[in-house]
Amino acid sequence: MVATNHETRMLAEAETWRSRDLAVLWHPCTQMREHPHTLPLVPIARGEGAWLIGQDGRRYLDAVSSWWTNLFGHAEPRIAAALARQAGQLEQVILAGFSHPPAVELAERLLALAPRQPGRAPLAKVFYADNGSAGVEVALKMAFHYFHNRGEARRTRFIALENGYHGETLGALAVGDIPLYRRIYAPLLAEALFTPSPDAYLAEPGETDADVARRAADALANLLDRHPGEICALILEPRVQCAGGMRMHHPDYLRRARELCDAHGVFLIADEIAVGFGRTGTLFASEQSGVMPDLLCLSKGLTGGFLPLAAVLATQAIYDAFLDDSRERAFLHSHSYTGNPLACAAALASLDIFAQDDVLARNRATAARMAALAAPLEELPWVADVRQAGMILAIELTRDGERRHPFDAGRRIGLHAYRAALVRGVVLRPLGDVLYWMPPYCVDEAQLELLAATTRAAIEEAVACA
Ligand code: PMP
Repeated sequence: MVATNHETRMLAEAETWRSRDLAVLWHPCTQMREHPHTLPLVPIARGEGAWLIGQDGRRYLDAVSSWWTNLFGHAEPRIAAALARQAGQLEQVILAGFSHPPAVELAERLLALAPRQPGRAPLAKVFYADNGSAGVEVALKMAFHYFHNRGEARRTRFIALENGYHGETLGALAVGDIPLYRRIYAPLLAEALFTPSPDAYLAEPGETDADVARRAADALANLLDRHPGEICALILEPRVQCAGGMRMHHPDYLRRARELCDAHGVFLIADEIAVGFGRTGTLFASEQSGVMPDLLCLSKGLTGGFLPLAAVLATQAIYDAFLDDSRERAFLHSHSYTGNPLACAAALASLDIFAQDDVLARNRATAARMAALAAPLEELPWVADVRQAGMILAIELTRDGERRHPFDAGRRIGLHAYRAALVRGVVLRPLGDVLYWMPPYCVDEAQLELLAATTRAAIEEAVACA
């Protein structure tokens, strides 16, 4: 087919943006040497629902919700309109000493929606930060500082889960356990204690998901016993360890972890930055365990994917421990853009959509379609596991479909699958040898069918050329 003048112009324009980019930008999570030859850089002009539209006019299905941020599709008109209204009124104001309605309203609504647990006083206060990692830093510092204020200065350590991920800043990285991100910075990191993950993929022959959860909880109990009075908090990602390869666990684990934290006077920090806002089927993943954490970290989907914002929800008891005449006992942590009015307005508009559109019910139907379309992939000889929690579905590949036979990392199966999907107009961004679907909630039947067909083709091509 002969390209029209228009197409030729768009291709040339995309190429110009590509080279201007590589001249000045340093991209996240990227070995820059792989651009432009091994990996194509994709300049995007606009977004529309689940589609990203390239500068060259090509369309890409955003199957990873732009790093798990987008909830209702790109450029969602209701959120865009709320943002425009807010921009014309108040774009930013210092949140120390000042207040504004979007910050207050958002805090009220988040607290009303947050997980509850019978017999526990509900989460009562919201502290804002401006990205997920910063939110994790806030929660860690708050937990530590609480005990300091209470005169329990020996409680200085955190427990985190093996294979967990909480962000890239040094505090968040210290409680993360993914060697690729952490290893090089290890000398800079505070020492955390790691406890086995309840990851159901690690089941021994004959073990159920619940058995693995029990085994991991027993290990946690043991660790807590060995460090009496030393631990401030346990931090974990409820239900799905996302960056760790979308590894999923039984809700029993969180239930047991909550009991153990209570028994040892340790805070439970739930990092729902990735799994919050309906990703796993319920509004918050902790709900599936009937558990309320002491500190709840939210970000990513909080603004529907429009702007960076994090919220850390805390109990009244934690808040009260900071009230004093002394500045030192106050939580002085601050970011310039704390509680940015635009970000809060986007978050409020996103919560309105949850209320107006019965999002969780629609997602249940979409998740069922995802399951049905993924089922035939289990027959491929390299598929060791297809797992799902609501709107997250993951396909784990190994050499021969046996869990204990991973591909040699040098084969870079994920990279090959990524490229194979991209040329077919789908953004899959595998985590190692795990391909996953985490689409915006507006994804429709035709898009899901494209996703399933592309995933099959990407797996076959990746295995063939790796
Ligand atoms: N916690 C979890 C569970 C995450 O998945 C992420 C981001 N992938 C973060 C924290 C960090 O968030 P951010 O990238 O906004 O710093």
